[in-house]
Parts: sequence; C-alpha cells; structure tokens
Amino acid sequence: MKAQPKASHFIDGKWHEDSAGEVIEVTYPGTGEVIARLHAATPAVVDAAIASAERAQKDWARMQPVERGRILRRAVDIIRDRGAELAHLETLDTGKPIQETEVADWPSGADALEYFAGLAPTLTGETIPLGGDFAYTIREPLGVCVGIGAWNYPSQIACWKAAPALSTGNAMVFKPSEITPLGALKLAEIFIEAGMPAGVFNVVQGRGAVGAALSTDPRVAKVSLTGSVPTGEKVYAAAAAGMKHVTMELGGKSPLIIFDDADLESAIGAAMLANFYSSGQICSNGTRVFVQKGIKERFLARLAERTGTIIAGDPLDPATQFGPLITADQHVKVMSYIAKGKEEGARLICGGATGNEGALFVQPTVFADVTDSMTIAREEIFGPVMAVLDFETEEEAIARANDTQFGLAAGVFTADLARGHRVIGQLEAGTCWINTYNLTPVEMPFGAVKASGLGRENSKAAIEHYTQVKSVYVGMGPVDSPY
Ligand code: NAD
Repeated sequence: MKAQPKASHFIDGKWHEDSAGEVIEVTYPGTGEVIARLHAATPAVVDAAIASAERAQKDWARMQPVERGRILRRAVDIIRDRGAELAHLETLDTGKPIQETEVADWPSGADALEYFAGLAPTLTGETIPLGGDFAYTIREPLGVCVGIGAWNYPSQIACWKAAPALSTGNAMVFKPSEITPLGALKLAEIFIEAGMPAGVFNVVQGRGAVGAALSTDPRVAKVSLTGSVPTGEKVYAAAAAGMKHVTMELGGKSPLIIFDDADLESAIGAAMLANFYSSGQICSNGTRVFVQKGIKERFLARLAERTGTIIAGDPLDPATQFGPLITADQHVKVMSYIAKGKEEGARLICGGATGNEGALFVQPTVFADVTDSMTIAREEIFGPVMAVLDFETEEEAIARANDTQFGLAAGVFTADLARGHRVIGQLEAGTCWINTYNLTPVEMPFGAVKASGLGRENSKAAIEHYTQVKSVYVGMGPVDSPY
C-alpha cells in the first residue's frame, strides 16, 4: 500500500523537495504500514513558501472576486468528481472508516469552497454620510495567512481555512499535521488544475518547529490554527509580535445534557455519534454526557446494547463503522485514561480494552457514575471514551456543564423546546445543538469560547477573520484648518 506524493512540499505552483529536512514517515493506522516518506521543511523551504505567497497575493487580491470564486468552484468540481479516490487517500492518511471519509471529510471541504466562492463576490463596504463630506469603507484581505492543521480532519481543515482566506484575496501557506500530511498536498495540486495562480496556496510539511517558524515570520499577517490548547497558547503568544491576526480552533470537553423527557433512542444515538465517530477523535465531541437521574439506568442499558453492535474493523471495508486510533502514542494515551477512569472509581459499562482488530484499536467505551472531579471528566481524551454523569435539576446541570476551562460545544436533548433554548442560552460554548449533535454545515459559524479558541470558521462570520476594514474619509470642500 503506497501513497507517496511526488514531493514533500508544494510551493509556487510546483512540487518542491529538500532532502536536508528531517524524514517524516506516514503510516496507515489500519495496519501500521509506512505509506509515504516525506521531509520536514528546512528554513529555506519555509522562506520559499512565504516568499511565493507574498508575491502571488497582490495580483490575486486584485482579481475580480467573481473570478476567484470561479476558480474555487472549479476546484469543487474536481473534488466531487474524484470523491472516491480522495476518500481512499483520507482513509489511508487517518485510518478513519471509508464510510466516514466518503461523506464527511472532502465533501465538507468542498462545501466550504463552494460557499465562500459564492459569498466573496457579494461583499461590499459601507457609505457613511457626514454632512457635506462622506466616508466609505473597503473590506480588504489581510495578506499572507498561515494555516496549521490537526490530524483528525486533515482535508476538511485545509479547505475550511483555505476557502474564506483565498476567496477574499489572501494567499496561504498551509502546514498540515506531520501525522497526516497527504490531503493538503492533493488540495494544492487540485487548485492549480482549477486554474489558481501559482503561489496563492502553498503547502509545507513539518512538526511544531515548522509551525512556529511560520507563526513568527514578519511577512505573515494571520495564523489560523486547529490543534490543542497548549499549542494554541504558544501560537497566540508567537503571533503577538507584529500583531498578527489569529483564529484558534482548539480542544474541548463538551457537555451533552439529556433530560428525562428526551426521545431516548435519539439521545442515545447522538451520544454515540458524539463519542464514537472517528473513534472519538473529534474536537467538539460531547464527552461529558449528563443524564437526568430518572432515565439513567434505562439509558445505560440501551446504550450498552447499541454500542455492542458497532462494527469495528478494516477502515477500507465499506461495512466498517469504527476504526483504529491515529498513532501508537494516542493509543497509549487513551488506554491510560481508561485505566485512570477505573482507578478513580467510575463504573465501566462496556468496552475498556484494546480492540482485537489491530494494534491501534480501542473498544468503544462507556463509563457511568463519573463525578465532576474525575480525570476522565476534566481532560480531553480524544478517543472513544464516553463519561456518563447523572444530575437532578436543570440549574445543577448548567452549573456543572460550565465548570471547565473549555468552551467549544454543547448539546441538550429535551422534548421541552423552551427548556432547550433556556439551557443553551446559559451554556458557555461557541457551537451548540438542541436535539441533535455534531452537525457543522458551512452555513453555521463554528468556533469556541473560553480556552477552546478564538474566531469563527465557516459562515459569513469567517469573513470577519480573513479581512480588515479600511475607512476612507472624503473631503468635499475646502479644508477647515485652524492654521
Ligand atoms: P497539536 O496541538 O499537537 O498540533 C496541531 C498542529 O500544530 C500540528 O500541525 C502541529 O505540528 C502544530 N504545532 C505544534 N506545536 C506548534 C508550535 N509551537 N507552533 C506552531 N505549530 C505547532 O494537536 P493535534 O494532536 O494535531 O490535534 C488534536 C487537537 O486538535 C485536539 O486538542 C483537538 O480537540 C484539536 N482540534 C480542534 C478542532 C476545532 O475545530 N476546534 C478540530 C480538530 C482538532
């Protein structure tokens, strides 16, 4: 099984290699096989990528927005035409089941490109009457933007960052996670095929040091990171020099509150989706499931029954619903959280062991009787481990749900819609759901509050984060000067 790209980097419209960079081995999590060998960017490669983006950006920004949109839309057509091939590559890169990557990864990226291709030409400024004079505003691109990705949704993340940035006239240097470097290279190749000028979208590989070099370069106007909170803090601090703009999409420990009047089957389905999809490696997962006491045992019994039917196996098999974790390190980390859960007295309802399907599998796991202070209720596990906590009153559920440094997402299940809105109104989270979970259509802003991040991706809100407003005062008469 091989997925070796033509070179490690894509700069100025061309494949680019510098074998002096540290070797990065890409493995398929399904079998542990090495599928590609790349090199991390050297300082010369980072410099070439930023210089290329800087050169390309001005002409790209001067292009009519509708023409930029047309190029992005051609890329969308290419992505959709090659859906099966791209899903296969995404599964090799991430180990996620093909039935997920066919519907959730590139397709969501294509939606973002299509949406911003259409939105950018509709952007206008304001005219402000000032007596005889007037002022107007122009929405301008920021310049060179850096995108830094996490490994769980590599192609979707690349598209979600590229779409608002490029449609509004910025250029981008994107650094995917060193663990999943392949999808972003494909995107760069597709953009060129769609007619995008060389240098508008560049990809460089590397670990944190390359991300840090990009985040501190004075030619860069903005850094958009998807990653963990500790990395976010480092990148935010680095971006302070030169007052770079930032978008931060970071980790979470989101609450999902299920009241006793909720449709039980639907709530259980959502709790499973919010903990087991992508083997639990999703930032917005509802990993603290608060269940009202009256339905707790019924909820747990039916949850265990349904969890037992999940089909784990070879990610490339279309029947597989549940794949491996991304790396051996992640496997060790998740298993250590499961051990902590047992040690601290949580009740194991199902799972809790390494799966038999391959070295990186962990069974879908449910703990009940979890208390707020347990490690598995406080820290982001990023694996298929659901913590079920019980509660009695609405006020109690809200207070406990908010008792965390994180604020990415939240969900509520109830038949009482007034209560649904009331509770969501008091939860400290950027992205919320009532009677559903983890749906992130491009029309809806996606982002966080508190330590989970800053800024918004998708929707019209993302435009604010990739453009800045220039105000122009127009004097219509002689200057009234005191001198
Ligand atoms: P990570 O923080 O380890 O790495 C993220 C990216 O940052 C990688 O590309 C990495 O190379 C780079 N990086 C590391 N140190 C850096 C530095 N000092 N300067 C610049 N770049 C640096 O995260 P991960 O393990 O790849 O991804 C998992 C995390 O991402 C989880 O916490 C998850 O919740 C979060 N995540 C958030 C969202 C969201 O939209 N909020 C989406 C997906 C994942």
